[in-house]
Amino acid sequence: MEFTTLKNGVRMPLEGFGVFQVPDAALCEQSVTYALSAGYRLIDTAAAYFNEAAVGAAIRKSGIPREELFITTKLWIQDQGYAHAKQAFEASMENLGLDYLDLYLIHQPLGDYYGSWRAMEELYKAGRIRVIGVCNFYPERLVDLCLNVEIPPMVNQVELHPFFQQTKALDTMREFSVQPEAWGPLAEGNHGIFTHKLLTDIGRKYGKTAAQTALRWNTQRGVVIIPKSTHPERMSENLDIWDFTLADEDMSAISALDLGHSEIIDHSTAQTAKYLNSWKIHD
Ligand code: NAP
Repeated sequence: MEFTTLKNGVRMPLEGFGVFQVPDAALCEQSVTYALSAGYRLIDTAAAYFNEAAVGAAIRKSGIPREELFITTKLWIQDQGYAHAKQAFEASMENLGLDYLDLYLIHQPLGDYYGSWRAMEELYKAGRIRVIGVCNFYPERLVDLCLNVEIPPMVNQVELHPFFQQTKALDTMREFSVQPEAWGPLAEGNHGIFTHKLLTDIGRKYGKTAAQTALRWNTQRGVVIIPKSTHPERMSENLDIWDFTLADEDMSAISALDLGHSEIIDHSTAQTAKYLNSWKIHD
């Protein structure tokens, strides 16, 4: 495992484990238990995934010292705004059974996220959160936030994989020292990624699978990855990427796979803003 050092000096693992679309508590707890025993130390959940308590249970049962873990959760749109964000943070901490959090992310660039950010800055200064960041902030929103807050975000979690590479967005993040983190690093299984010919052919040269090749490519461009799986053998496969280095020619060949758009969600549309705002996670 390798680490990246964030602009506030915190070390963040370059690979973690995501638990989106695992709302079943028993399955989530079992998956996180497997992931921790496989060697993952960064776990990525969210209030909107309805599995923070299961993640917390797996953490407690693992017996792994708290300081070795890097736990992320996220603030949903319904809880945006200064007062709501503080309440939502405490609710997440209670669900997780933690007294401090490693990374708290604004889940979507919608609603009163400036109010939320002020609450997160206070929690950060009080030592309740080690790192604060955002998700799905495309360049104009990210730059605006960075320029108008006291403590700019340290991480931006966005969709990043060989079919949606976002090189210009990464340039903007680097300009503002914001660490990019990839959600959907396996394209959520779209575009035939696991049997993709180029990724398979490149991987074969190193004795690796297409999935491992795609994950390694992202980390080699400095991106943190958080692949999700409920299958132990896939968790191990996805973690087994730290003993090889893709040659420059292979990095370039993968760069040519970029479609330039997402096949999963388009954050720039009115329809997406309406849909995400309509999604409620509590009464
Ligand atoms: P992903 O990690 O790109 O892909 C997960 C899919 O790939 C699952 O269907 C999984 O199936 C399959 N898979 C994983 N490893 C495999 C392998 N080695 N071989 C074959 N199939 C494999 O997608 P994701 O879960 O959407 O993204 C990862 C994490 O990012 C999430 O879990 C979540 O924590 C975070 N996320 C954040 C946002 C956001 O807005 N901030 C959005 C989406 C996701 P099985 O589970 O059946 O193995």
